[in-house]
Amino acid sequence: MKVFVINCGSSSLKFQLIDSESEKCLAKGLCERIGIDGSMITYAPEGGEKEKAISPMPDHTEAIRLVLEALTNPKTGVVKNLDEIGAVGHRVVHGGEKFAESVVIDAEVLAAVEECNDLAPLHNPANLIGINACRKLMPNTPMVGVFDTAFHQTMPEEAYLYGLPYEYYRKYKIRRYGFHGTSHSYVSARAAAVLGKQYDELKIIVCHLGNGASISAVKNGKCVDTSMGLTPLEGLIMGTRSGDIDPAIIEFLAHKEGKGIDEIMSVLNKKSGVLGLSENLSSDFRDLEDGYNKGDVNAIRALKTYCYRVAKYIGSYVAAMNGVDVICFTAGVGENAPLVRSFVCEHLGYLGIELDEEANHKRGEDIAVTTPGSRTTVMVIPTNEELAIARETVRLVG
Ligand code: AMP
Repeated sequence: MKVFVINCGSSSLKFQLIDSESEKCLAKGLCERIGIDGSMITYAPEGGEKEKAISPMPDHTEAIRLVLEALTNPKTGVVKNLDEIGAVGHRVVHGGEKFAESVVIDAEVLAAVEECNDLAPLHNPANLIGINACRKLMPNTPMVGVFDTAFHQTMPEEAYLYGLPYEYYRKYKIRRYGFHGTSHSYVSARAAAVLGKQYDELKIIVCHLGNGASISAVKNGKCVDTSMGLTPLEGLIMGTRSGDIDPAIIEFLAHKEGKGIDEIMSVLNKKSGVLGLSENLSSDFRDLEDGYNKGDVNAIRALKTYCYRVAKYIGSYVAAMNGVDVICFTAGVGENAPLVRSFVCEHLGYLGIELDEEANHKRGEDIAVTTPGSRTTVMVIPTNEELAIARETVRLVG
């Protein structure tokens, strides 16, 4: 079956068409600046040239219409007509406590996703717009929602509750939800498969280090803790997000800088993380690695602080699981920054980790980067959220 996988943001839309039998991506691309002047579509068929075109996209329906046109284009398309697309898999950011698994989308599901909008006001409404636009253009094609939060729903109460009055959980469902669940699930299962071990007998820590970053503890195939919380702001230091801070800093800064809560939240989301730590050198780890190699103090400070936080979380998840067998690195930074992996592992001598520097510098493969004698295995597993969404879609409608 050919599965159309969509990840819809408020003004952007990423897509892939995946053949579920071969698990190959047939075409992929991106619509940017939807609803803004200068809307642009990028389309790349497998093995073909990448095309970019400026084309007005006043809304997501028009964006999806253009994508479907590209996919069926007689010259560069990869399907003859839309009937060849068997199902659509939508990434949905927040499923609250309602969705512990992917679901086939119907009117009831749409209403339940809408009820989660409060928990992800920037993301869920955009996801819903994408789903509705798709339903309009492909009314007879089954659609599946795959939630970023679902994999983390197995966390025990002691891991997901905050030390707040319990009535706030009862009234508003304030708790830890976690995000990047599709990636944590895919990577942990893949690590077990690559090692030829039983997934349900392993203690795995997954470090998903991208622009956003989160870490999870997966015990016997189930998530038992994760670093992102009610929102994706908690936990690790990220590209531009602060991660954990003393909550009293918000009031302190508001007074000192004469700023309102919205402005402080914007600082925590957009001006903090390695960008803020590096005195605005960059949020991109390629620049920070360059800076580090040139001895730039701003880059060194940002990288060291970032890696220390990752190592500290790993330590807490070793405690949460009473041990660890495998630590996986994934996503843009986790897959491509050997320096980050090496700095993190410097803190993990107590786990008997021996890094294999040659393996640590390889790219793009599922690989163990520790020596065979290392007591704990550290791996790089490239994530593939789109493939995971396609698999879920086929599992439910195939
Ligand atoms: P993601 O959110 O998973 O797409 O990750 C994006 C981030 O990965 C970028 O902002 C970079 O910081 C980082 N990244 C991508 N490529 C490299 C690379 N070759 N070396 C170091 N960091 C990289």
